[in-house]
Amino acid sequence: MNAPQTFRIKGMHCASCAGIIEKTLKQQIGVESAEVNYGTEKAKVIFDGAKIGLVQLSKRIEPLGYSLVVEQMEDHSEHSGMSQSKSDKLAELKGLKTKVLSVIPLAVISIFVMGWDILAQFEFVPMATPAVTGLFRYLLPVFATYALFVVGQSYLAGVYRFLRYGKANMDTLIGIGTLAAFIYSSVVMAFAETLRPWLNVDVTYFDVAIVVIAFITLGKYLEARSKLKTGDAIEKLLNLQAKTALVIRAGKEVEVPIADVVHSDILIVKPAGKIPVDGVIVSGSSYVDEAMITGEPIPVAKNIGDSVVAGTLNTTGSFTFRATKVGSETLLAQIINLVEEAQGSKAPIQALADKISAVFVPIVLGLASVSLGAWLVIGSQFLGFAQALSYGLVSLVGILVIACPCALGLATPTAIIVGVGKGAREGILVKDAATLEKLHKVTVVVVDKTGTITKGKPELISTKLQVGVSEAEAISILASLETRSEHPIAHAIVSYAKENNIELQVTEQFSIIEGKGVRATINSVEYFAGNARLADDLGIALDQTAIAQDTTEGKTPVMLATRDKLLLVAMVADALKPEAKEAVEKLHQLGIKVVMLTGDDKNTARYIADQVGIDEVMAEVLPHDKLTKIRALQAEGAIVAMAGDGVNDAPALAQADVGIAMSTGTDVAIESAGITLLHGDISKLAKAIKLSKLTMRGIKQNLFWAFIYNIVGIPLASGVFYPLFGWLLSPVFAGLAMAFSSVSVVSNSLRLKTKKL
Ligand code: ADP
Ligand code: MG
Repeated sequence: MNAPQTFRIKGMHCASCAGIIEKTLKQQIGVESAEVNYGTEKAKVIFDGAKIGLVQLSKRIEPLGYSLVVEQMEDHSEHSGMSQSKSDKLAELKGLKTKVLSVIPLAVISIFVMGWDILAQFEFVPMATPAVTGLFRYLLPVFATYALFVVGQSYLAGVYRFLRYGKANMDTLIGIGTLAAFIYSSVVMAFAETLRPWLNVDVTYFDVAIVVIAFITLGKYLEARSKLKTGDAIEKLLNLQAKTALVIRAGKEVEVPIADVVHSDILIVKPAGKIPVDGVIVSGSSYVDEAMITGEPIPVAKNIGDSVVAGTLNTTGSFTFRATKVGSETLLAQIINLVEEAQGSKAPIQALADKISAVFVPIVLGLASVSLGAWLVIGSQFLGFAQALSYGLVSLVGILVIACPCALGLATPTAIIVGVGKGAREGILVKDAATLEKLHKVTVVVVDKTGTITKGKPELISTKLQVGVSEAEAISILASLETRSEHPIAHAIVSYAKENNIELQVTEQFSIIEGKGVRATINSVEYFAGNARLADDLGIALDQTAIAQDTTEGKTPVMLATRDKLLLVAMVADALKPEAKEAVEKLHQLGIKVVMLTGDDKNTARYIADQVGIDEVMAEVLPHDKLTKIRALQAEGAIVAMAGDGVNDAPALAQADVGIAMSTGTDVAIESAGITLLHGDISKLAKAIKLSKLTMRGIKQNLFWAFIYNIVGIPLASGVFYPLFGWLLSPVFAGLAMAFSSVSVVSNSLRLKTKKL
């Protein structure tokens, strides 16, 4: 299996470029798949290195005007601050700006000249004298030459590639349009006297070429500038990374570059210092502001043994900590990677736009030629050849210019980039665009109880002794059994034993009884610890009425038994998360049903569910049944999101339409869940769904606007309304509309940033 590799692409100007590059890459022998994203200007390629090299791959697309940036995607752990791709883009932006600044004055003069006759109707504007008219007559071709051959070089290159390789993109459309206007005008001007009998030689279209190129270049510039802004979430994350760290080396405090920090280094964090890598505090204490990573606004208390993560900010205390994760292993590095991957992934909704832009360019070329032909054949019957040819030319240029599918290609990726980035800043990590798209359709949210609705840190509250062992002895046995379990209940019991200095015993033959508890032997006696179902299995009568009072108050019973005798019932209680109730309310406001699935006791579960307003409870569910329950909900037509701790709920998370992992604290392994909510914060669930809804709405608006320009623009530019209303779109307006459509799509995506979740 070849792993996908991601490369930056240089030279992309439009959505149709993505299609061309994708197709060309896929055609190469050894290439398994290729996905090109115009939003991020990156290609994700799976290829067999033995059959084709990277350099060769790049060579294949170079004739088409593109290249792969052949160093691998940069490793974020190695440096911080500005990325290579960003500095490249800034340079490109600067180049565009120079072009815009040089060509816009020319366009303004051209528009002024075009409009002089109209302006001259006002008294304060004099009629143009023949000298002035003559001057402009010679000035405009000069301007046009500059606009087309200097500023518009890439468009001409598009025409060349079309002629040479038969590949057309948006540059080709603009190139053919403006070049046609330029050539016609030059010919008419050069051979005015010869052509006078047949053509309207007093009308030239140099101004059209100038203005169209100026507007489109301006549009490209504005688009590139805003596009840079859509991606700044990554930039901000990169900037969180400290550049240096204070490390204790040979007993001395030294400042080293972050890349030199290794595992088990002891690092010093001073007041207001940045935490450079992930680790565990070994001395001192402080409050740490983790808002930038988890979105949690209040600084978190940190004491010895607590973990800290890179990129967060110490407040006033100071401490030392042992590095546990460095470089690309840190949570921050993982988040950056994830965000970058997600921003570059394609949303299913984009498939349609992609399909359309792929066939758009050839169709538009066809339409433009048909339109020109129709003017010449039909138009000349009514208007005479000279007039029909000018109108035909105007319609050709107009169609070519307005039909560029540029906005169409920007509609989805820009919104995804902004949406994913916005999520990351709120502690909502999205795995890919497809997940973000699916999330907005969710109708049922299934939550796990422990760790999702409750804190997941239960405490032992009380015990009820059943037979003649001492309580200390019973708790000792129970806690010894639980030392080997990862269940939160087990932690509660073990810490209770530790706090009360109860000695533990050696256990053997430990095993987990899934969804019910654990078993092990101590001194050859077999013991069981677990829930009522386990008692049932053993055939031990558990006095339900005796425990009912506790369970209806939300406590969980844990019984300790031998094969035939009940020894002890301990009551464990897990406090509700303070934000749980409001989180459920917010989900209700979005019209979403909330279902709680738990392996816990029925009464306990019911009590907790009622406390927070959960609609439906499924209790005493075994782990593999969680999956069945989710399937059942799906069979009823629900789109299900499942939020769980991601460890023993993995199959259910995978079965759900969207799996949401609640990561507790700062110790996060970003796993395969579609969405990861940092800081285990359930109130982010509703935010994540809102984010998805906002993003999808943005995309749909973008697609609408992108389409409408073309749907209205093409017939208008072709002149089909001319016979009826005398309407024929000026190519100048086509250029303006074209520039405006891309800019408006990108700005609409950027607007997402300011929306409240
Ligand atoms: P949940 O995550 O909803 O608690 P589990 O399948 O992990 O679901 O556990 C189901 C139930 O089994 C728990 O509520 C508890 O009553 C019992 N149980 C599981 N593991 C243990 C354990 N180590 N000690 C005692 N009881 C346990
Ligand atoms: Mg669980």
